[in-house]
Amino acid sequence: MNEQLRRAPSPDLLPRFTAIVGDKYAITDPVALEPFLVEGRGLYHGRSSMLLRPGSVGEVQAILKLANETKTPLVPQGGNTGLVGGQIPFDGELILSLTRLDKIREVDPASNAMTCEAGVVLAKAQEAAAAVDRLFPLSLGAEGSCTIGGNLSTNAGGTGAVAYGIARDLVLGLEVVLANGRMMNLLSKLKKNNTGYDLRHIFVGAEGTLGIITAAAVKLFPRPRAVETAFIAVPSPATAVKLLNLAQARVGGTVTSFELIVRDVVEFAIKHAHGVRDPLASRHPWYVLMEVSSQHRDGLRESVEQLLTDGSAQGFVEDATIASSLDQAKALWHMRHVLPEVQKPEGGSIKADVSVPVAAVPQFLEEASAAAKAIIPGCRPVPFGHLGDGNVHFNVSQPIGADTAQFLARWGQVNDAVNKIVLKYNGSISAEHGIGKLKRDSLPKVKDPVALELMRGLKRMLDPNGILNPGKVL
Ligand SMILES: Cc1cc2nc3c(=O)[nH]c(=O)nc-3n(C[C@H](O)[C@H](O)[C@H](O)COP(=O)(O)OP(=O)(O)OC[C@H]3O[C@@H](n4cnc5c(N)ncnc54)[C@H](O)[C@@H]3O)c2cc1C
Repeated sequence: MNEQLRRAPSPDLLPRFTAIVGDKYAITDPVALEPFLVEGRGLYHGRSSMLLRPGSVGEVQAILKLANETKTPLVPQGGNTGLVGGQIPFDGELILSLTRLDKIREVDPASNAMTCEAGVVLAKAQEAAAAVDRLFPLSLGAEGSCTIGGNLSTNAGGTGAVAYGIARDLVLGLEVVLANGRMMNLLSKLKKNNTGYDLRHIFVGAEGTLGIITAAAVKLFPRPRAVETAFIAVPSPATAVKLLNLAQARVGGTVTSFELIVRDVVEFAIKHAHGVRDPLASRHPWYVLMEVSSQHRDGLRESVEQLLTDGSAQGFVEDATIASSLDQAKALWHMRHVLPEVQKPEGGSIKADVSVPVAAVPQFLEEASAAAKAIIPGCRPVPFGHLGDGNVHFNVSQPIGADTAQFLARWGQVNDAVNKIVLKYNGSISAEHGIGKLKRDSLPKVKDPVALELMRGLKRMLDPNGILNPGKVL
């Protein structure tokens, strides 16, 4: 029997899964299923005969127990905003949606901790923290749809990582249902807990291949009393790195975001996104969107102004604007958040989410752009990303008027060339989006073979029947 047939459940099993969640939450109608089979970039279109929406941890356990006994593969799904195809059922697997597990079980401001179920949408988690005067600092463009379970399963990064770390750094405890249906309760709110192996981190970033995250205790922080947002024109990525270093050393607060943006993608945003205007009077080759936060109400704006004056004197700053209201700050962030989608109207886009040491970003950008242009003359590199973390979204838009399918057929060739440069700088071929399906075949080329062997061993131990998100990561 071929692999595809093995992955789709036999039809006589479906009523047994339906019985666990009830008819209403076992979706089989092809029209209703369709949105869960495609991912936002339109790169992948999967197939499945059923989506299960359990409403309790007990139901998740029952589904996994039955799936394990009957060797029925499942693909976990949260908000379906993942960018590497991890949440898509490619071969008829059942979809296990966690979005009904959407309770915030506890907000504990005194302990700076909050316990959320896996299906809580990230924006809701942020709001719950704000309601008790705390900050949950994970922030990304998809925050209105992505879920805490998805964020932890992909070990999401986002725009606040430069100050607060990535999803892995924000997790205190986890509740996980294993492939055999047993629930493991590691839901501690403790910062210090040295009781043997720290199993949380096996599941963070595992993309649903080792267990199902049903809840997590996450860290909260004091809410900043002052936040300043500046849009800064810089002559080059190299000067942007110098400005970052200057800001981190001198500004009277914490640099909570530091995003590098190339001019061309700003042009795309102005052209294609609703409500985006050029923030500065004249054009510049590169920009930085910087956010600085402080626990002190006063003095932050003056400190940012001083930084820009010093930066200008040293040749790092060509022009800048500091948002003078919350609405202006929101408009600048809106522009940043639309950048992933405004590439679509420009045709095909070959993407790489990579990281290199911060100091190597300028050289990486130069070499990767040259490599892409050598492979596809006329292509348009439009890199942007989280410079503060050395994380660049190295996107390449097709040449104007080119055939999209022919352009996208070069994806592997461009990525191989980009990855080679990433590795030269001891970087990572997946900074924050994960491996999923998209980079699965590249992983063995770049991962330490001993580490890869250990990963395969863990997978065999935790999921001996291979029911959890088969064909992803490994
Ligand atoms: C506009 C836009 C901007 C983005 N910006 C960023 C960014 O700045 N930084 C960043 O890191 N990512 C970014 N992303 C990618 C994406 O939002 C993140 O990967 C997010 O964490 C995925 O969450 P989700 O709930 O949508 O998960 P899904 O897409 O549903 O799933 C992602 C993976 O996690 C698994 N999974 C989901 N829930 C569970 C669970 N409860 N237990 C076990 N496995 C599970 C799935 O099987 C899949 O492998 C962006 C995406 C978009 C569309």
